[in-house]
Parts: sequence; structure tokens; C-alpha cells
Amino acid sequence: MKHIMFARWEIECDQETTRDLFSRVQSGAPETCGCIPCRNFAAAREQLYPVDVIQLLDSLGIPHDREAEVYHTHRIRPRRHGYGGWFHFVGRIVGGLDACKQIGTTKDAPVWGFDLEKVSAEFKMGFTQRIGLLKEPFQGHPIVQIEFQATVPWVLTEEEPES
Ligand SMILES: [Zn+2]
Repeated sequence: MKHIMFARWEIECDQETTRDLFSRVQSGAPETCGCIPCRNFAAAREQLYPVDVIQLLDSLGIPHDREAEVYHTHRIRPRRHGYGGWFHFVGRIVGGLDACKQIGTTKDAPVWGFDLEKVSAEFKMGFTQRIGLLKEPFQGHPIVQIEFQATVPWVLTEEEPES
């Protein structure tokens, strides 16, 4: 296990196991989905991750085109869109407040929100132990999720969503 410090977090990670498990993941979520907003994300991918984040992902053993999930949230202004998504890796959070926090309750269910750190003007991220859509190769391992929110240019020639 290797130690990594990033923003407010201290992380322990198993880079080799993560890399090995990703060799069994064929593509990232946007390619798997294939809808127009997802195809836009994939087409803009090489310009949306800050260099620091690409380096972080690499030291965790995560190929940066293997998102577990990507979702379009809204159009910020013409040709600029809000997206969210996440990645998984083998490891644990040693220090730093979890990036998921309960922000309320509806009936009996807690409502969760994010408490992310800004990496650049257009990219925020954080580490959480609340895990979603974990792919089969990762099951049974200690997993951390990297949650992110990004502003992404619209680069496709297809019409962009209006909201
Ligand atoms: Zn999609």
C-alpha cells in the first residue's frame, strides 16, 4: 500500500492491484452508454481533466478514460456544460472528511450531497467511501470512490442540450 496526500485527504492505495483490475474493464462509462452528452464527454476528455488529476489517477493505477459513471447535469451557458462522475480504486481513506455528506432527510431516507475540493476553476473532486456502480472485477476489494464535477466544453457537431 502506498500513501498519497491530495487536497484535504490522506489516501492509502494499491496501485498494482487497481491497474490489474482495470485491465479487465473494456471502456469508460461514456463509451458504454453512447448517448450524445456521454459522447461529448468522451470527445472532450483530453481537455477536461487537469494535469494534477491525470497524475493523481495514474499514481492510483486508474486509466483516466475508465470512469465508472459520467452524467450530464446542465448547460451552464452555450457550449459549456456541467457534468459529474466517478472512478474507483483499491485503497482506503486514512484521513480527511469524506466527500459525501448527509444534507437532509426525506421520510426515512438520508439525502446526500458532495463536499468537494476545487482543483481548478472548472474541476472539483473528492474521495468517498460511499460506493456506486462498482464493476465486477473490483468486488471484494477495499474500494475508494473519486467523485468529480467538471465544466466541459461542447465539442460535438450535434446540437447541444438546451438545459
Ligand atoms: Zn449517456
